[in-house]
Parts: sequence; C-alpha cells; structure tokens
Amino acid sequence: MCQVKETFKRYPDAQTTTQQTRQRVDNNEHKVSKGYKWRQGPVENPPWTKIAWTRPALPRHAFITFVLLHHRLPTKMRLNKFISTIDTYCTLCKATMEDDLHLFFQCSHAAEGAQTPRVSPPKTKGPKIRNCISYAIFIAAIYFICSARNHATFRNQIVHAKHTSKMIKEQVMQRLLFLNTISGKYTLYIHHLLTRSFTPRPSRNEKA
Ligand SMILES: [Zn+2]
Repeated sequence: MCQVKETFKRYPDAQTTTQQTRQRVDNNEHKVSKGYKWRQGPVENPPWTKIAWTRPALPRHAFITFVLLHHRLPTKMRLNKFISTIDTYCTLCKATMEDDLHLFFQCSHAAEGAQTPRVSPPKTKGPKIRNCISYAIFIAAIYFICSARNHATFRNQIVHAKHTSKMIKEQVMQRLLFLNTISGKYTLYIHHLLTRSFTPRPSRNEKA
C-alpha cells in the first residue's frame, strides 16, 4: 500500500492543491483511469485487437475469439499437455489431431458449416464498416464451430454444418439490426445480406 502511495507521488497531477484537485473532479478532468494508464506505461495493442473486439460482433462471440487468439481454448491437443491419456482426435471429424488450426480452419465441419461466410481471416481492404461486418462473421463462425464441438463432446449431440451456418447468419443479422436502430449505418448492408449472399458487399454508391 505504501509502495503504491510512493509511486503515485510521481503522478503529474499529484502536485496540484486540494482545491485544484476538487475543481478537476468537478469538471470531470481527473479520472482514476488516467492514473491507471499512467501507471501502466506505454502499452502496444496486438494487431488482432480490432478484429476480436469489432463492434458488430456479439460480446460472447468476441470473447471466444479472444481466447482462441491467446491459444487458450481447451482443444484436445492443449488438454493433452495436462492429461497425456486423452484421445486427441478431432471431436467433429475424427480424422486428425484436434488443435486450433485444424478445428477452426481445416476441419470438414468448419469448411462446410461456415461455407457461406467463409472461416478465413477477413480481408482488410475496403470501407471500414464492411471490414467490421466481415470480422463479425468470422468471429461468429469461430463461436459456433466451438459450440458444435462442445455439443459433441459434452452432450453427445451432433450439430450439422447447415445448422452452424444458419446460426452464424441469424446472429450476425440480429446484431446488425440492433446496431442499426442506434446508428442507422448498417441499412444498406442489412438489405444486401437479406437479399443476396452473406458476404458483405454494399452497392457502389454506398458511403461507409
Ligand atoms: Zn476435424
């Protein structure tokens, strides 16, 4: 506790008088978050941050992608490091070892279930809003492939690839419809997604 106190004596705003501090609080200028960021020092975000936490993605989908990008999802190959006797074959296709790369990018279930919105790293060129929707589709696909794997492992239920694909579309659409009620920025994309393919391609005269 004393160590923290000594550290914060160096905080730039700590030299202000009580009256000045009170004025800063009243004006919402002084915030704990500022002190926290100062204490952290310069932090460089990893390049995938914008993909994992893109606004059109549902938080529960984004969290699973966040864990995947940290290589912390409990795939069989990861569990095998702790339990050497565990069966390491893929729960969904039984063809090869179940690791991050296979389960989400190579498995036949992933390839078929997320065929319409492909499970591949989203393209980074193009209008920002279109990129964000691509990220959201990618993230939803990761979530539902993980969900299908968990249903097979813990409930002994087979989730068909078509169901996975349907759920990806439904949940991304619901999220976009919700966001559109707030900002109205997604109207053209929603119209496109409803009437054509699921790949987000706005019309030429659309301004993102
Ligand atoms: Zn597989």
